[in-house]
Amino acid sequence: AIWIRNLHKSFGTNPVLKGVSLDIPPGQVVCVLGGSGSGKTTMLRCIAQLETAEDGLIVMSGELLGLRERNGRLVPRSAHDIARQRRLAGMVFQRFNLFPHMTALENVMEGPVRVQKRAAAEVRSEALELLRSVGLEHRADHYPAQLSGGQQQRVAIARALALKPTVMLFDEPTSALDPESVGDVLAVMKSVAASGVTMLVVTHELSFAREVADRILFMDGGVILEDAPTADFFGTPREDRTRAFLAAVL
Ligand code: ATP
Repeated sequence: AIWIRNLHKSFGTNPVLKGVSLDIPPGQVVCVLGGSGSGKTTMLRCIAQLETAEDGLIVMSGELLGLRERNGRLVPRSAHDIARQRRLAGMVFQRFNLFPHMTALENVMEGPVRVQKRAAAEVRSEALELLRSVGLEHRADHYPAQLSGGQQQRVAIARALALKPTVMLFDEPTSALDPESVGDVLAVMKSVAASGVTMLVVTHELSFAREVADRILFMDGGVILEDAPTADFFGTPREDRTRAFLAAVL
């Protein structure tokens, strides 16, 4: 689950998030739509703690991120604690960011072995199972450069899942792929959604959003302008801006 209140984030003098509040129950699949520069990526990066918001609170899986209470006041958490909290969410980016010098299997094993200090033999069988679940067990010993973009992105999804996150964040995971690969990656995302993981997906794939999302957020100018169940969002959008966006992209 994710709970966000009044998130504000600026870059220099440019306010990018202007008070974002959001409540996502466990297991819900939420797609985030919106024009370029509306703040979608920045919101995701704040949730993943890759950016620090100036104001606002984020609670993920019952934990207040980055802060803790002491004597009735909120104080920063330790670096160690923040590193642990970062692993509550798995993130998949637009560009596949695999380690180029590691095979697919090594990429998936890296987090559990190096970060969680788990036994390699046990992690290895889990990692192979994850590669199987994304249709790539036969590519376990390939290096990223030997894989297509879509295959690399499926390895990236397996790698994020290896840390058993409660929340998966996807930032336009198919927008850098050739058209033939997009369907394979979306199919894997669909099966992740069906597994009950809470998902927040920034995407321009409207047919995916329509089919898989429980709910759609539409961002505009640094706020969530519209937040509706998927059928309502596409069927009866409330805001003029949403209607204009849908008219332009559908
Ligand atoms: P897109 O669909 O184009 O990816 P978006 O909705 O994801 O757009 P963001 O990437 O969140 O939008 O960016 C929102 C604004 O913040 C943009 O004006 C962008 O230039 C600015 N911005 C984002 N990251 C930074 C940064 N690291 N430094 C300065 N400005 C940034």
